[in-house]
Amino acid sequence: MAIINSVLGPMDTADLGFTLSHEHVLVSSAGIQYVYPEFIDREGTISKGVSELGAAHGEGLRTIIDVTTIDLGRDIRMLEQVSRESGINIVCATGTWRDIPRVFWTVEPDVVAGLYIREIEVGIEDTGIKAGIIKVANDMGGVTPEGEIILRAAARAQKATGVPISTHTWAPERVGEQQVAVFEDEGVDLNRVYVGHSNDTTDTEYLIGLLEKGVWIGLDRYPGRQTELTPDWEGRTQTAWKLIEAGWGRRIMLGHDWSVTLSIASREMQEQRQRYNPDGYLFITRRVIPRLKELGASDEDIANIFVDNPRRFFEGGR
Ligand SMILES: [Zn+2]
Repeated sequence: MAIINSVLGPMDTADLGFTLSHEHVLVSSAGIQYVYPEFIDREGTISKGVSELGAAHGEGLRTIIDVTTIDLGRDIRMLEQVSRESGINIVCATGTWRDIPRVFWTVEPDVVAGLYIREIEVGIEDTGIKAGIIKVANDMGGVTPEGEIILRAAARAQKATGVPISTHTWAPERVGEQQVAVFEDEGVDLNRVYVGHSNDTTDTEYLIGLLEKGVWIGLDRYPGRQTELTPDWEGRTQTAWKLIEAGWGRRIMLGHDWSVTLSIASREMQEQRQRYNPDGYLFITRRVIPRLKELGASDEDIANIFVDNPRRFFEGGR
């Protein structure tokens, strides 16, 4: 057992229960909700978040790890309200996604690490709500110079606070390997690192290579993007099963990368996304778990992936 930060205050890892490892409620851009509030239907997003997560609670969901950072328009009071009214625990994030503020580009990683540490130990925006995970992101093209500042800052905040790291990667280009190299250089315990969006590839040789390094793997895009660049949900599920079969079922976690409002996508794309996944946060429960069982996964495998692994990840146990 360990005590971690949730948006409603300290929580015992024993209470995490069925956990989705990479989700969002609202995705937008830094500062939009304060400066151009007309851009986001805040009340609509809250009521949708409460109803969709409340429905998921009815089908067994207990916790989401919400990896929304400042540059994804993190709205910490929104997460607090959605958690309280839906009954779903939300672990929220410090860190930075792909839209790295220009003011970070010219400073030492320690300066940025200090900001992350403050959000973990003191709180976010004077709310007293503390972050429970550190998010970083590197995408197509790999780790840029400013992306490296973020990785090093996250590494140092991890070592200072003990809070784990969750990454966004572009798996088709094996970007997880570049992230691991920076974390190794910083001396981070790779057991405290989760390499996310790893099911944008079906390359199990790449994934097992990362697992052998000691990180956790996030198979956290479901049903996944509707492009030829990445696998469909069946391909993603086959990959999860291959990792379980190869003995890695205690080192993987699943999620959707879902959000009830994805304001960085066009209205047309948002509608298409809704049609493609009408189950939202419940796609894994309704479609993926039954399919994994068909492929041969046991109830114990499922309990490991959704309950035991998130708990051990936060506890730092092996
Ligand atoms: Zn995400």
